Amino acid sequence: MANTARNIAMGILAAGTVMAAPHPATAANLAGAPAVEATIAGHVRPADARISETLHRAVDASPTLRDLLDTIEASDSLVYLSDAPCSHNQHACFVNTKTAGQFRLLFVNIDLRRARDEAELDGSIGHELRHATEVIGDPTVRSTALQFFLYERIGFRGNGGAFETQAAIQTGLQIRDEVAHFMKAHRR
Ligand SMILES: [Zn+2]
Repeated sequence: MANTARNIAMGILAAGTVMAAPHPATAANLAGAPAVEATIAGHVRPADARISETLHRAVDASPTLRDLLDTIEASDSLVYLSDAPCSHNQHACFVNTKTAGQFRLLFVNIDLRRARDEAELDGSIGHELRHATEVIGDPTVRSTALQFFLYERIGFRGNGGAFETQAAIQTGLQIRDEVAHFMKAHRR
């Protein structure tokens, strides 16, 4: 499990630092998804270097994040993480779900301007990755409309009216705390 997460992290790091040429056979290209640097980085694909770097560091710090990455890696879904704003003044949001052949493509925005520190940023990313695993857990959710109906079933309306789940809230807080504790212990 940990090894898988570390391999993913290495891919994530490479994705953030290497401008790989898009591979013609990637699901992202099939779907007309935004051009991202990560074409061979595994199932979690940061389109931003800072998101990539913070995820790489967080993998060492957070067992909860490692579990999430392992779940996503073993799934039929690719999760794209972009630096972009969200409605409702949220720090991050799970904006839509698409299908490309056998893959599902899940798109998450992270508003990097709102993150006050690394632990909080990791918590926000982890929160959204937990939402991603909620969709992954229901193979019938293959569009944004079906994503909406899923959250009508499993979610509740949080601040500003956006859907929320208790599991994502708890996961985000747990990852934030694990990262903060790790950074403190390692004087980072
Ligand atoms: Zn949420």
